[in-house]
Amino acid sequence: MTENVTEKIHDVVIVGSGPAGWTAAIYAARADLKPLVIAGQIDAGGALMTTTEVENFPGFPEGIQGPDLMAKMQEQAERFGAEVLYEDVVSAELEGEIKTLTTDDDTYRARSVILALGSAYKHIGLANEDAFSGRGVSYCATCDGFFFKEQNIAVVGGGDSAATEALFLTKFADKVTLIHRRDELRASKVMADRVLADPKIEVAWNSEVAAINGTERLESLTLRDSLTGETRDLPVTGMFVAIGHLPRTGIVAGQVDLDADNYITVDHPTTATNLPGVFACGDAVDHIYRQAITAAGTGSAAALDAERFLSALGARVAVEAAPAVAGA
Ligand code: NAP
Repeated sequence: MTENVTEKIHDVVIVGSGPAGWTAAIYAARADLKPLVIAGQIDAGGALMTTTEVENFPGFPEGIQGPDLMAKMQEQAERFGAEVLYEDVVSAELEGEIKTLTTDDDTYRARSVILALGSAYKHIGLANEDAFSGRGVSYCATCDGFFFKEQNIAVVGGGDSAATEALFLTKFADKVTLIHRRDELRASKVMADRVLADPKIEVAWNSEVAAINGTERLESLTLRDSLTGETRDLPVTGMFVAIGHLPRTGIVAGQVDLDADNYITVDHPTTATNLPGVFACGDAVDHIYRQAITAAGTGSAAALDAERFLSALGARVAVEAAPAVAGA
């Protein structure tokens, strides 16, 4: 890691580039704060980059592909002057008036920071899960679905993500087994109905993955019945894990207050964290709604909060710098 500290002190640096980050960037740029967006190297665009059709983002009655929505948001932010860097923040110093954010290349300084860190895929936690990643185990149907043409595969999970992945995978696979640990899907009714009506999808109810089997690549899964404990073999060449997410808050842990599940705590209804000048939005804060539209909403709030913080800071600095009035 190099330690080139850039000279400029930015008014606002936004870390993250999902709907929350880009919306914060649009608002901050329109407020002439010239935000710097540290968008990430590999994960730029966030979770929507691995989503297919987004049908519920207002303004797109025909639906829009996740990556296209992110590209449009970025274009809108850049149109108003946001600067974008494709680097990962590896460490941050957020206490004090001037905050620093360090990437592999440089250290950036800012008076305010908006954390739009998003979340990462949750893993099942099986011993050889990571070893089989890319050899049959995947966390992204849009990235890897194509490799499973005319094969029998499985999706793990019972929420909207699992339902979306299962439906998408029917385009390629001969058969998709949705493995869910309970007897009822958590997914929204519209998605659950589609899954249950799809002739290519079979649901393995009350089932958990107990083992991943194979030599070079995934050959089968051992499923355990969550009620009886009985096990059975499910021959599949692919397993897509869609069991939720974990907030990506590691770089701010120990500075910004987190809850028991490592989500950032904010002073609702604002986006203020425990540190002055540090605001947080999107999936790294919200474990309840987790929608592109709610993330975008909190992104706009974070930019407005940062703008107000900077105005107050400017006013305070001006008062401190003003010459004392004789006789006052
Ligand atoms: P989620 O709603 O939290 O669902 C996670 C699913 O995985 C649940 O069914 C859960 O089982 C299961 N699960 C969790 N840990 C597990 C484990 N260790 N082993 C086996 N199963 C496990 O997560 P999500 O589906 O990623 O959705 C997150 C949010 O994004 C939701 O608000 C959802 O509506 C939203 N979303 C929306 C769309 C859309 O609108 N098109 C698409 C994707 C996501 P239990 O049910 O037993 O808890």
